[in-house]
Amino acid sequence: MRIVVVGGVAAGMSAASRARRHNPEAEVAVFERGGEISYGACGLPYVIGGDVPDLGDLIARTPERMRGQGIDVRVRHEVTGVDAGARTVTVLDREAGGTRTEPYDRLLIATGVNAVRPEWARTDLRGVHVLRDLADGRAILASLKGATCACIVGAGYIGLEMAEALHSRGLRVTVLEKAPEVAGRMLDRAYQQRVRAELERHGVEVRCGTSVEELVGENGHVRAVQTDHGPVPADLVIVAVGVKPNTALAEAAGARLGETGAIAVNTRQETSVDGVYAAGDNSESLHCVTGQKVHIPLGLTANRMGRVAGVNMAGGEARFPGIVGTAIFKTFDLGAARTGLTQTEAEGLGLDAVSVDVESTDHAGYYPTAAPIFVRLTGERGSGRLLGVQLVGQPASVKRVDVVAALLHQRGSVGDLFELDLAYAPPFSSVWDVLLVAADRLG
Ligand code: FAD
Repeated sequence: MRIVVVGGVAAGMSAASRARRHNPEAEVAVFERGGEISYGACGLPYVIGGDVPDLGDLIARTPERMRGQGIDVRVRHEVTGVDAGARTVTVLDREAGGTRTEPYDRLLIATGVNAVRPEWARTDLRGVHVLRDLADGRAILASLKGATCACIVGAGYIGLEMAEALHSRGLRVTVLEKAPEVAGRMLDRAYQQRVRAELERHGVEVRCGTSVEELVGENGHVRAVQTDHGPVPADLVIVAVGVKPNTALAEAAGARLGETGAIAVNTRQETSVDGVYAAGDNSESLHCVTGQKVHIPLGLTANRMGRVAGVNMAGGEARFPGIVGTAIFKTFDLGAARTGLTQTEAEGLGLDAVSVDVESTDHAGYYPTAAPIFVRLTGERGSGRLLGVQLVGQPASVKRVDVVAALLHQRGSVGDLFELDLAYAPPFSSVWDVLLVAADRLG
């Protein structure tokens, strides 16, 4: 049994390790076109911001270590073609040059996403970056030298994390966003506004409803971003306008894409082509609240899908049950989290949704470190089904989103949430935790 994995980060390495553990007889080879494997891309903004000293701190496992565990990892090797009939892949050695053909019995495509680069961002100007991998992180760190003002284009969570990172490096930061508010796809408007207020409180300029037209350069370096509302000076530009699933190999293999544009997979992570699996950011998953296929590329999902694919490729039986749309991020002193559906999303799906907003403190009001927390709990009118929650507050306090995520996986109701025996002591919560208060009001 020869298992070939394309892509050596979250989904790919989870799969390779699992496959090897499940079937020690299987031969497992991983091809990664970049120079490193198995690192936490999620930590990149914190290295760039200086909270984490070194990019190397993000690397969990090296190729050498994986080889020691019997997994044949080859970095700087790009898979450029798949012949699903012959069960072979074509591999380009990016260092030595030359291509060769490698056989497989089971193939995993764990190629992640590509950062979207609009026409205006396809430039040779220095100081213009996307952020997907360690190489991008390295390039941004190099561009920091001498930079004084940065433009972040796109106010999704990566854009917002980068706004904070560059601000903490002493740069003047402007966030440009086409949509009317920041964090558009994650939160309802009132909660987006709280995130924006936090950025502005720290001196980040946020310009929503603003479209980029072109980049202005001088001597080969970016100097400004020209928008439909005039120029914004910038000697460092981060393009964070979204991602697209990297489906090229899957398509070459003849695998079906779903309506989201990501690779269609079943619960075993099998594509529509026999012997070909896909996992991670390039794949669709089932949203357990809506029952629909979605493309929500996040770290735990990628690791979990990889694990499932690894077991199945090695001859075992594992299933990926789906996700409930849980996400969390930090902007300066504020955390924002959501799971399930927002009110806006639920309405967009035609659900009869109703929400309550509760403003309270994240622990007993008399305890010295108590801080405000804002919760919007959403349920379905009539059935009482729990649909989702959004929280904004001190970063650690919004991790209670997980309570609602757990209930969503169990298809719980607002009443079920109210009945939970949640932990209480004054340094952690109020006796009636804010989630219980919200459930009581909604129920
Ligand atoms: P990737 O990690 O993208 O790995 C895919 C690999 O495949 C790449 O290394 C690529 O080089 C390789 N590859 C592609 N094509 C080929 C080919 N043809 N041949 C060989 N190799 C190939 N998620 C969260 O849940 N929480 C967070 O806080 C969070 N923060 C993030 C912050 C940043 C800045 C970024 C960039 C991502 C963040 N994510 C976060 C997302 C998370 O990192 C991804 O969900 C996860 O890395 C996806 O893993 P993956 O294995 O599917 O894809």
